[in-house]
Amino acid sequence: MSIKVIVAGFKGRMGSTAVDMVKGDADLELAGLLDPFAPEKEIDGIPVFNKKEDLVGFDAQVWVDFTMPKVAYENTRFALENGFAPVVGTTGFTPEQISELIELSRQQKVGGLIAPNFAIGAILLMEFAAKAAKYFPDLEIIELHHDKKKDAPSGTAVKTAELIQKVRAPKKQGAPDEEETLTGARGAEFDGFRIHSVRLPGLIAHQEVIFGAEGQGLTLRHDSYDRVSFMSGVNLGIKEVVKREELVYGLEELL
Ligand code: NAP
Repeated sequence: MSIKVIVAGFKGRMGSTAVDMVKGDADLELAGLLDPFAPEKEIDGIPVFNKKEDLVGFDAQVWVDFTMPKVAYENTRFALENGFAPVVGTTGFTPEQISELIELSRQQKVGGLIAPNFAIGAILLMEFAAKAAKYFPDLEIIELHHDKKKDAPSGTAVKTAELIQKVRAPKKQGAPDEEETLTGARGAEFDGFRIHSVRLPGLIAHQEVIFGAEGQGLTLRHDSYDRVSFMSGVNLGIKEVVKREELVYGLEELL
């Protein structure tokens, strides 16, 4: 039996790529589409919803979400409360929101995934960066995205920083008497190190972690040149969450 999937944000850059991926996999069935402003009532026989509340009782197992940071938490809550296992790529969750959603998934016994990045290369970059940070505690994260991205820093940069924080000896970088003569010049501070966000047309999703030590440097970089790079991760997420009874944060938890 195929897995019935709802795609929230189906008209967006990521949502429309996810729709194509679901349609192209015989093990998945595109069951419903959600967008607050879509004028269509159906597309190729697939019902289109404008309000999530109209999906209460709808026949589907998985809720794929590529919407906007300001609605992602409410959408994920709604999916869990209504028995749809969420596979969420939307970024901008606070750590407290993620903990609440994990707790809710346990109560509901519904699986789920919140993944700041679905590209396997980005998962590896995070893992390698955490490994290197143990030996190179001086580092800066530079994330680069297209200029329509609404949140900064990226969810991937935050997740990378959190993984680094777990292994890095705490220290504040830069000169003790460092002064910004232009506000923001040194980027955002995360536990003593810096995150910089670049926004430019033409980019998709890219990240560098630059390490420096006496007489040497190390740069790790990942590039998503096309949104299709995220789809094998979304596909894996859909097929895994239906087997589970708890939401996880990070695709690596399912690998
Ligand atoms: P996008 O092109 O702006 O698409 C978002 C879509 O969601 C828009 O069509 C928007 O409609 C719709 N939307 C807004 N509110 C909604 C709601 N309440 N219910 C359903 N749909 C709603 O953005 P994108 O580039 O696809 O990115 C979407 C999210 O995915 C962002 O948070 C981005 O950071 C994240 N992302 C994650 C990954 C990953 O691997 N995890 C990769 C890339 C991007 P309107 O335009 O009509 O408002």
